[in-house]
Amino acid sequence: MSNRTVTIRGCPLGGPELVVMAGPCAVESREQTFRAAEVVASSGARFLRGGAFKVRTSPTAFQGLGGDGWKLLREAADAHGLLTVSEILTEEQIERARPHVDLAQIGSRNMQNVPLLKALGRSRMPVLLKRGFGCTIDEWIHAAEYILAEGNESVVLCERGIRTFETATRFTLDVAAVPIAKKRLGLPVLVDPSHPAGSREWVESLTLAGVACGGDGLLVETHPDPANALSDGGQAVALADFPALVEKARRVAQAVGRTLPLGASATAAPAQ
Ligand code: PEP
Ligand code: MN
Repeated sequence: MSNRTVTIRGCPLGGPELVVMAGPCAVESREQTFRAAEVVASSGARFLRGGAFKVRTSPTAFQGLGGDGWKLLREAADAHGLLTVSEILTEEQIERARPHVDLAQIGSRNMQNVPLLKALGRSRMPVLLKRGFGCTIDEWIHAAEYILAEGNESVVLCERGIRTFETATRFTLDVAAVPIAKKRLGLPVLVDPSHPAGSREWVESLTLAGVACGGDGLLVETHPDPANALSDGGQAVALADFPALVEKARRVAQAVGRTLPLGASATAAPAQ
């Protein structure tokens, strides 16, 4: 648990209950987004993730559906009682995102975009601040302080792996950063097991490590058809495998004195 709980539309982050945020890397289509929403909600997730404006390494890669992607994310989330988390790239996008995005994700590549951090601080919109993959814990904490200094206390951090000399994974998940950042700021810290893994083969191990090291929740990429995903397909857990992944995380949560809620499918009365 963290000292300061951040509550987003009735959902507390940093309390005894872990918060799972899951969905595709990018919103691609209505069918893909609705299928993801259904499975993640029934597994116990509280947020549907999905990028509409993507920052891709190559300019020729899929850049996202833009505003239409946000509308689809909102519709699919609403249909399944979920909240939404999606990346915001520019100051201009903040007001545009507001009706559709409950938690504004600041991507790793934007962690030190100070004008954007200050604008989000002024906006009072809840922010998920991902760690820059080339940034120290100290730099990450200072980035969060830019948002807090403008009077916005709804800040949640996310450890998503840093660049090291290791090349067997896409990034190196810095598990120690989780308790350290929690102690330094007292804010909730989530763990993204997908981007450090780079391959779905390692996502389960990093998910369980993320819960064990004190993460207040998870941000996981999952897709109905990873082989044909337009973005980050290699690290996407198939939707068919997602409920089992959450169940394992739930057991680790119990072992470390936390809870992870059951989804609608598990809590509904069995059909007669
Ligand atoms: C993402 O969440 O899809 C993403 C682009 O993450 P990051 O900014 O951590 O690379
Ligand atoms: Mn991604």
